[in-house]
Amino acid sequence: MSMSKKVLVINCGSSSLKYQFIDMANELVLAKGLCERVGMDKSFARQTRGDEEPLIINVDMKDHNDAITQVIELLRDKDNGVISDIGEITAVGHRVVHGAEQFSDSTIIDGKVLDGIKDCIEIAPLHNPPNIIGIEACMQLLPGTPNIAVFDTAFHQTMPQRAYLYALPYDYYEKYGIRKYGFHGTSHRYVASRAAEMLGRPLEALKIVTCHLGNGSSICAVDGGKSVETSMGYTPLDGLMMGTRCGSIDPAVVTWIMDHEKIGTDDVNDLMNKKSGMIGVTGVSSDFRDITNAMRGGNARAKLGIEMFTYQVKKYIGQYAAAMGGIDAVVLTAGVGENVAHVRMGIVGGLEFMGIEVDGDKNEAVAGRDIDISTPGAKVRTLVIATNEELAIARDTVRLLQ
Ligand code: ADP
Repeated sequence: MSMSKKVLVINCGSSSLKYQFIDMANELVLAKGLCERVGMDKSFARQTRGDEEPLIINVDMKDHNDAITQVIELLRDKDNGVISDIGEITAVGHRVVHGAEQFSDSTIIDGKVLDGIKDCIEIAPLHNPPNIIGIEACMQLLPGTPNIAVFDTAFHQTMPQRAYLYALPYDYYEKYGIRKYGFHGTSHRYVASRAAEMLGRPLEALKIVTCHLGNGSSICAVDGGKSVETSMGYTPLDGLMMGTRCGSIDPAVVTWIMDHEKIGTDDVNDLMNKKSGMIGVTGVSSDFRDITNAMRGGNARAKLGIEMFTYQVKKYIGQYAAAMGGIDAVVLTAGVGENVAHVRMGIVGGLEFMGIEVDGDKNEAVAGRDIDISTPGAKVRTLVIATNEELAIARDTVRLLQ
């Protein structure tokens, strides 16, 4: 058996399972893949090994136990696999969405931790259950292999109370734990430390605003390596407008709509989570590629949606610079941050007064590598960094095993 540590990273959604199998000796992804339509008809699994063409197999997966069984089969497949024995899986790192106030760091999972993650179901009813199913399936199918939980919320546990408390009666915080938790923490933490590396300065000395802009989007103020403020709240609905989520709105609008449309909590949640944001405003799509095409074709509401989005991100950068009393760098990451040049320009353009200055040519030339797109003299650096939550999870897994 090889000595190097190989970590399986698992991200379980309600009907999907994404995974990566990483050799931590060189942080190389040996294989990655996904199971889709788990628990539905026409379920399938797809695995990619290195640069090879993906292997797709149609296989019935009635639950996440079946999906994980399938992943193990694919990893040790005689012709297309990357291991010969399940003993080569050193450990499994699980993405867990909500850790509430119980978890301020990643942790090795034992019975007590599993109970703690189950306790968080009450505040994360959509997200934590599939994560738990994935953990339990691994415990059953890979007995003796350690499981590690890495929480989306953990990084934000350093926020001061003035930042995380809502101005509701204080006992709602005490009774129900209603407060800002924040999400995407693994991504914000990863890109902040990568930014320090790129700038050649210690993370402890930097004030960074990290902008994770994907289907879900959030912004984080990272002061000295710690999250001090973030835009998502009690749930991932708060903050920026997103692909299909409305982000922050006047809370009174919610009850007004319920009264006037005569709809209940399920429908209003659906409206705010699935029919709002970019799709709601543009009427085109939640995908920035489609919206960009529509805008270039003269669609006024597509243009408006993009303007609203970039304006909101811009305001957060200003707010968070004020919250930290300074700013050394802005990081743009995730699907939109990494790939959409005109959105990046829309965000940082006009912030020259605070030392943010981007080189238009560099911005246009970003192509899949981490890059500083600032002008040489810019006081505040603007970095485009590819986020890598899977690698961050694998690194935590190895750190905790030591
Ligand atoms: P998730 O939150 O699901 O992880 P991603 O970070 O993958 O989301 O971001 C998805 C968003 O990024 C979509 O709106 C998509 O349009 C956009 N995106 C991804 N790749 C590109 C690209 N090459 N060009 C334009 N937009 C892109």
